[in-house]
Amino acid sequence: MFDLIALNVARRYAAVVNQGALDKWAKDLKVMTKIYRDIPVSIEWDDTEGREKAYGYFREAEKLFLNFRNGFEAWVYKVVLPRMDKSEAYLVKELRTSTWDFLHTIRSLFPTKWDGQSSQNVKHIPDLSGLKAKREGNIKRYQVAFKKVYKQLSEYIESKGGVMVRYDAVDHVEVAGVPVILENLGRDEGTFDYTVEPLNLLGKHLKTVKGAGFAVALDGLKVTINFTPDKFDEAGKYNPATDTLTLHPLGMIDTPDGHTLIHEIGHRFWFKCLPGQSRSMWEEILSDRGVTIFEGDIERFFHIVESKLTKDFAFMDAEDILKLTLPAAKSKSDELKFQELSETHIRGLGTGPGEPFDAKDYLRRLMFKKDEVVQVEEVSDYGDSSPVEGFAEAFRLWVTKGPQTIKPFTRELFVQVCRAGDARI
Ligand SMILES: [Zn+2]
Repeated sequence: MFDLIALNVARRYAAVVNQGALDKWAKDLKVMTKIYRDIPVSIEWDDTEGREKAYGYFREAEKLFLNFRNGFEAWVYKVVLPRMDKSEAYLVKELRTSTWDFLHTIRSLFPTKWDGQSSQNVKHIPDLSGLKAKREGNIKRYQVAFKKVYKQLSEYIESKGGVMVRYDAVDHVEVAGVPVILENLGRDEGTFDYTVEPLNLLGKHLKTVKGAGFAVALDGLKVTINFTPDKFDEAGKYNPATDTLTLHPLGMIDTPDGHTLIHEIGHRFWFKCLPGQSRSMWEEILSDRGVTIFEGDIERFFHIVESKLTKDFAFMDAEDILKLTLPAAKSKSDELKFQELSETHIRGLGTGPGEPFDAKDYLRRLMFKKDEVVQVEEVSDYGDSSPVEGFAEAFRLWVTKGPQTIKPFTRELFVQVCRAGDARI
């Protein structure tokens, strides 16, 4: 019988809140009161066997009340009243208080005393005479307190239409090979049902990320879905320090821009997979949305052109010059500068083929671009808030809408950076 009650306590920490569930607690308490009352307290001084037996009952009953207290506390505070907000109804506030009062009354039902043996190594044993003196008073006190809680809970359940569906505090499922933890605290029947459809959606997007070549970003990934009410205005968050990816209800639906999950996986890929060097490069280029062409850049570019130029040219346009110089670019910002500098045409001294290259004039015209800032394209409106957000947005665009939705320069930079992070793109 003892085990059965403990089992009920565990099993009831979930699911349906109604009068029947409340009555089970009342019934448990009644049974436990009988057990408490049946602990033998009048033992003859020489009845060693009887005393040991009484101690056994005492300790079993103590364990039961402890289980009951923990179970009831969790049931009321985490299952029945999962939300805690300032605008709480009067009845709910009362309920919290009277539950606490009741739990307090069953906190000290089992007095102990020193066994009188060693003062160095003090041992406590059940104080049967203390129990005998206080037992009926204790019972009276907790019964009165419970009656109050019971009445208020009854009214509360009634005010909610008689039935409230609650969920296990934590649920574990697996979606497309990724462990998903549902933190249900704060979840109630008023919130959207996140069991089947949104989890399927999650699975679909996880597969898309994998299919786009970013399987490495899913390695060891765990997704937490959190229903805490004060986070209802936040879609999701990736915390690099703990490597946790959390989604809130707002982030569980598809939007025209794609799914929050993918943006957050973009953050994870950034922090977990990208070498620091690649991150710095991306940040450097995107941070001020532009790179400045310095005199040294122009000189270097000029020498590359000069060294590669063949005799038989008449005229070179931007595309030709870029083809000539791009292989010598050492970084993404070089490429950007070269792109800009290539727009300065090369002319011969005369107009016919084979005319010598007018180096002096060419360098003079290139120098017009000194201190010019070459703008980098915007990724998306949201992505422009910071380079790190820009990366997550580029990731989301690439995965959900395809490479062509990222502007050419950013796209090339993105590919270069992602390959350094072992993406198969
Ligand atoms: Zn973000």
